[in-house]
Amino acid sequence: MACTLTQEQIDKVIAFHGHQCPGLALGVRAAEWALANMGNALDEEIVTVTETDMCAVDAIQALVGCTFGKGNLIYRDQGKIAFTFYRRKDGKSARLVLRSDFVCGENDAHRRELPRRFRADEELTQEERALQASMRKEKCERIMSMPLEEIYLVKPAEGPMPHRARLMESLICEDCGEGVMESRIRRLQGKYYCISCFKKHDDR
Ligand SMILES: [Zn+2]
Ligand SMILES: [Zn+2]
Repeated sequence: MACTLTQEQIDKVIAFHGHQCPGLALGVRAAEWALANMGNALDEEIVTVTETDMCAVDAIQALVGCTFGKGNLIYRDQGKIAFTFYRRKDGKSARLVLRSDFVCGENDAHRRELPRRFRADEELTQEERALQASMRKEKCERIMSMPLEEIYLVKPAEGPMPHRARLMESLICEDCGEGVMESRIRRLQGKYYCISCFKKHDDR
């Protein structure tokens, strides 16, 4: 089934992210799954662990309501387009992973070549730029109209629900005098330093 979100929801995501792109569309579909199966972070306590920091994660923030600032969006860099959702009230969890056989109209070489040159910041002719833009648009539309099961595999979560963020003491760096969260303070020769001052002293 094609994406079931409303145009209003989709417009909100695009406004939040700043542009429409295939990466964002992938995030929209993951967020759609989360909203349907877990609820949203405003009504339910949802925690998302994201394994990527690309465009897609903005859709999770704008639609599911898990954000870095609230502490219910956790980034664990695995270089994978994968999101694990946890619901606190009943412990329900699932991990969505982009299918390795996910294809989106890139079967012929010409459709791969242009995006590659675009990403490599190569100079494109005006004609090529127009073609690139229309291919991106088409790719977004395809992602939005594909059945979810052709995009993501739904697997069990790989680890337990992350703990709530602990409230931490703030300590003062003995070099720059700035406050630092205690878990980030470094000790060197009996003195306490923030990470950047620690590096400075450690190099000497
Ligand atoms: Zn983007
Ligand atoms: Zn310092």
